[in-house]
Amino acid sequence: MIATDRPLAPDVKGWCPSALRPMAAGDGLIARIKPTAATLNADQARVIAEAADRFGNGQLEITRRGNLQARGFDAAGHARFADIVLTCRLAVPDAAAEAVRTVLAAPLSPTEDPSCTLDAHGIARAIEAALVADRSLRDLPGKVGVAVDGGGVLPLTTGGPVETADITIAGTADGAAVLRLPADGDGRFAEIAVPSPGVAATAVRLLHAFKAQASPAHRRVASLLEEIGPDRFLDAFDLPWQWRETPAAVSSLGVPRFTRLSTASGAMIAAPAFGRLPAEVLVALADIAEANGDGTVRLTPWRAAVLPGIAAADAALVRTEISALGLIVDACDPRLRVFACTGRPGCLHAGADILTDAAVFSAALPEGATLHVSGCAKGCAYGRPADLTLTADNGGYDLVRAGRAGETPDLSSLTRDTAIAAIRRSGR
Ligand code: SF4
Repeated sequence: MIATDRPLAPDVKGWCPSALRPMAAGDGLIARIKPTAATLNADQARVIAEAADRFGNGQLEITRRGNLQARGFDAAGHARFADIVLTCRLAVPDAAAEAVRTVLAAPLSPTEDPSCTLDAHGIARAIEAALVADRSLRDLPGKVGVAVDGGGVLPLTTGGPVETADITIAGTADGAAVLRLPADGDGRFAEIAVPSPGVAATAVRLLHAFKAQASPAHRRVASLLEEIGPDRFLDAFDLPWQWRETPAAVSSLGVPRFTRLSTASGAMIAAPAFGRLPAEVLVALADIAEANGDGTVRLTPWRAAVLPGIAAADAALVRTEISALGLIVDACDPRLRVFACTGRPGCLHAGADILTDAAVFSAALPEGATLHVSGCAKGCAYGRPADLTLTADNGGYDLVRAGRAGETPDLSSLTRDTAIAAIRRSGR
């Protein structure tokens, strides 16, 4: 629904909430859990879900960094929730260390998927440990993060940098590793070749280099590179690097399915619509992971949950159970091609109830098209151009074709019905 009262203008906060430092939102405080190596065990998932329901509003969401965000706390409720997160060992007690412990890992390790090109979980753990131990990195800007892409059957990208990361680590076919810096406005990025054993340490050295060269205006590595370029940034490193082109986004990356990892078993991928995972659904997912999988739930930056260790013989049954929870298990579901932000009431900057409208718009979306539905020009849900972008503004929606939120619209002041008609027309 489009809101009639005027939303607040969007602002740039420059930091992300953590479990210990919540952020104010339209529906109360939000807290973000950063699972190490993308993994929650079933007990952790159940306890966190129950705490989010008891002390918050029970609305959890998987973020584009593969984090688990809980919403709707007051200050006292958040304090109780934070204690439980610490008891579950899903955060470190030092709030400044927790703020910089931002390492996104691919969902599977080489022991689970032998086609992985590197041990994403081991490298992620090593980088997290260095970030927590190194007091000189405590004042890194709040959004800086590292991604570790292990490749294999569930890679984070198809050969480019992870969109939300400042440094992306990936493996190569010959057993080496590469570090990717963020892409520039033309889609080019610098790729640095490094020996695989030292890759975690090199990533931490790059973070130190960023800290040494960044001014307060440089909140991300991308903004520093924009000013000085990779040559100067990498000046102190005796490492070979080359320009690479960012591959096109592949919509089939991480789509819901059962993917075999051996002849007898595999991993089930399930996607909550628009990343929203109500507490009771997370509890049920944890129960399924324990009963049918390896007892863990993995979170991904494409806002899905992965349950490894599912016997191939049980895959159909598990799929049915997950579908009954309301999670997307069909790779053709149009909601997988729709990116939607929190919207109202969760975000005070939103001009509409984005999640409700996105569900309606999804049904009109032509096959293969991508749609970004944004509550305001900030466009939090999707950083790339989408085929169609609808941005709530002034009591209606602006439509941008082949662009991003905030760009000059092709159509303005659409009602929900005229927006639906425009989405349908785009397929002709
Ligand atoms: S894009 Fe959505 S979530 Fe982000 S500030 Fe705007 S309304 Fe809020």
